[in-house]
Amino acid sequence: MTSTSASSTRRVSSSSRPRSPKGGGPSAAALTRLFERLDTLYPSAGTALHHTSPYELLVAVVLSAQCTDARVNLVTPALFERYPTVTAMARADQGDVEALIHSCGFFRNKAKHLIALSQEIVRDCAGAVPIDRERLTRLPGVGVKTAGVVSMQIGGAPAFPVDTHVQRLAFRLGLSARRVPEQIERDLMALMPAERWVRAHHLLIWHGRGPCDARKPECDTCDVRDLCPKNGVGQATKAKAKDRTKAAFCWLQ
Ligand code: SF4
Repeated sequence: MTSTSASSTRRVSSSSRPRSPKGGGPSAAALTRLFERLDTLYPSAGTALHHTSPYELLVAVVLSAQCTDARVNLVTPALFERYPTVTAMARADQGDVEALIHSCGFFRNKAKHLIALSQEIVRDCAGAVPIDRERLTRLPGVGVKTAGVVSMQIGGAPAFPVDTHVQRLAFRLGLSARRVPEQIERDLMALMPAERWVRAHHLLIWHGRGPCDARKPECDTCDVRDLCPKNGVGQATKAKAKDRTKAAFCWLQ
């Protein structure tokens, strides 16, 4: 059932070189080595959300907010069996959707948004999930990151959506020192040609789900440790030792 777009499995081209980040950070040569190494480490990096259509991808990405992809993949088979199309979801009973997605968290809001965005797609978009990122952001419950992920996966304009993994790794690796996702995305996009954004987005996420864990990064054995300034890693460790609860809300994590 897993579906990964061709763009998400595209290998990094060696013909177009990354650029150094403005105001410092790794050199263009180091950036090239970093992403070539990540590319070797994660040849199949792509979305982990199971889907077979733009509608299913949009639903899965909305459900993945504050929830793991693995949990979403457990929930969506029954949800898609009951509501296989955007038209079916537009007519859904909210209580029924809530029961089906309960374990994903924030289930009331997510159910409300899934039904409302489906109604809007049926009413204003002839039942087809919009490919344009800006149009997607105007759907109920669809933020900039969600719109970017959906748009780039279904063939929209290239994007470099910033989720919690991308945000954390961009900082630790010295690719962006900013805190606002939209600003981080602009920094990352400036580092490399547009045809590499989608692939680099997935590579950072996969590395963040692996050794570059939010709370316990495995820097001693990390395959890119020689290319990483490890920005903020010590701070996160100290914060964790001092107060586990507060550390959980640190913007780095
Ligand atoms: S060296 Fe540490 S901080 Fe840098 S990418 Fe690897 S795990 Fe993350």
